[in-house]
Amino acid sequence: MVLSNRYLNLGERFYQRIAPAPVAKPALIIFNHDLAAQFKGSLSTLDDAILAEMFSGNQLHESCQPLAMAYAGHQFGQFNPQLGDGRAIYLGELTRQDGGVMDVQLKGSGRTRFSRNGDGRAALGPVLREYLVSEAMHKLHVPTTRALAAVTSGEPVMREQFIPGGVITRVASSFIRVGSFQYFAAQGDYHSVKRLADYVIERNYPELTQLDNPYLSLLESIVQRQARLIAQWMQLGFIHGVMNTDNMSIAGETIDYGPCAFMDGYRHNQVYSYIDQYGRYAYNQQPSIGLWNLTRLAESLLPLFDDDTDKAVALAKNVLDQYASHYEQAWLAGMRAKCGLSACADDAEDKALIESLLDLMADTRADFTLTFYYLSQLNTQTDDKDQALHTLFTRPATIDTWLKHWRERLRLETHSDSERQARMQSVNPIYIPRNHQIETVIRAAEDNNDFAPFHALHVVLQNPFHYQAGKDNYLLPPKPEEEVQQTFCGT
Ligand code: AMP
Ligand code: MG
Repeated sequence: MVLSNRYLNLGERFYQRIAPAPVAKPALIIFNHDLAAQFKGSLSTLDDAILAEMFSGNQLHESCQPLAMAYAGHQFGQFNPQLGDGRAIYLGELTRQDGGVMDVQLKGSGRTRFSRNGDGRAALGPVLREYLVSEAMHKLHVPTTRALAAVTSGEPVMREQFIPGGVITRVASSFIRVGSFQYFAAQGDYHSVKRLADYVIERNYPELTQLDNPYLSLLESIVQRQARLIAQWMQLGFIHGVMNTDNMSIAGETIDYGPCAFMDGYRHNQVYSYIDQYGRYAYNQQPSIGLWNLTRLAESLLPLFDDDTDKAVALAKNVLDQYASHYEQAWLAGMRAKCGLSACADDAEDKALIESLLDLMADTRADFTLTFYYLSQLNTQTDDKDQALHTLFTRPATIDTWLKHWRERLRLETHSDSERQARMQSVNPIYIPRNHQIETVIRAAEDNNDFAPFHALHVVLQNPFHYQAGKDNYLLPPKPEEEVQQTFCGT
């Protein structure tokens, strides 16, 4: 695994050079051969024992110059000037077959200068959760960090009790976060802010180099990508759980899967994360928190936009003002697709129709994923398949009234029923990583060293849009006794 490392050139203020702390007895849980095949080199031909040594951090390629990145961040609204990779280690850049580069990082690889009171390790549960959810997100066409490998460390980690430890290897377009810029801006070190911005532009936004104000255009591009990303989360019922500014990537990818979850029963302000006591990162808060975080990014970049502060503020404000319309557009387009509405129609009317469906779902806590999956099987002229949808609503009459409006709206559509159904089924997944399934996987792995449930769930999530015979237990929402009320960060 030959690695380059341009981040190293930024200088010592940006990182601590540090190697992963070896683990006792690494064993490979899973290696992502499909992802590995995208890179140059022959990763996929290595045997499991060698992969376990590599992706635990025990054995690094001679080209690797590992480091922990410095960053700051607003955690639940409170600024922390010094966060950084406390349990992650950046290994460098892998070159793809097509010439592009991706960043690789180990998580759970030991203490660094940024560990504060943490042990630098990851528990097995969160490693499995991140592997499953990030790979599922990829298959759901949501920009995300990818999982390349997961290993057990053979060492216990102390949380509420001793539990097995693990290491996950993640691949991303960038591990630079909003908080990376905040780190230097908070110190008034705008020389470093500029260096970091130049690095990001060169690496992730090279098309901006030639523009008049590349830094402002950088903000603009990040704003656009985040707005679209969050719209995609909303369309899948995904709740990130910890949208701190240090957990928002400048590449517009979903990053840092902690206490995240996909919703089962729909609720506008659903929260799963037990650390989010006040619902700051509730489902319906995500779009506005996105803007809040981007505003922190804009503040950090301000002096780069113009020497004149008033002018710089006006420029930044103008860009931030576009967030709402980027988000609205992406949300409406995606929700229309989910509902099979592709013909030109009145925006406000379609929006009202979609929102009234969400309100009905919220009334009875209808399952988010199944509602849209069942909807995508219905016919325009007949109601012979409506029965499945009825089962999700306590008062079927309410959804019948909605379906009547929906069918009226479908008269504007020019596609046949089967075409519309196929389109809807290509955006409405059948299988999402349901929380109770993930819990089952984690219990089996942590309690019995049994990884079969993990692999079985992972296989199902590889094909979220296609019905898989005999896998109905993965499609169903949790029974009341299976419902997971809270998710844990597991740090
Ligand atoms: P997170 O909420 O997981 O995004 O992490 C926030 C900060 O806490 C980051 O600086 C992490 O590196 C650090 N952190 C989380 N868990 C640990 C741990 N077990 N050991 C050291 N640092 C940690
Ligand atoms: Mg984080």
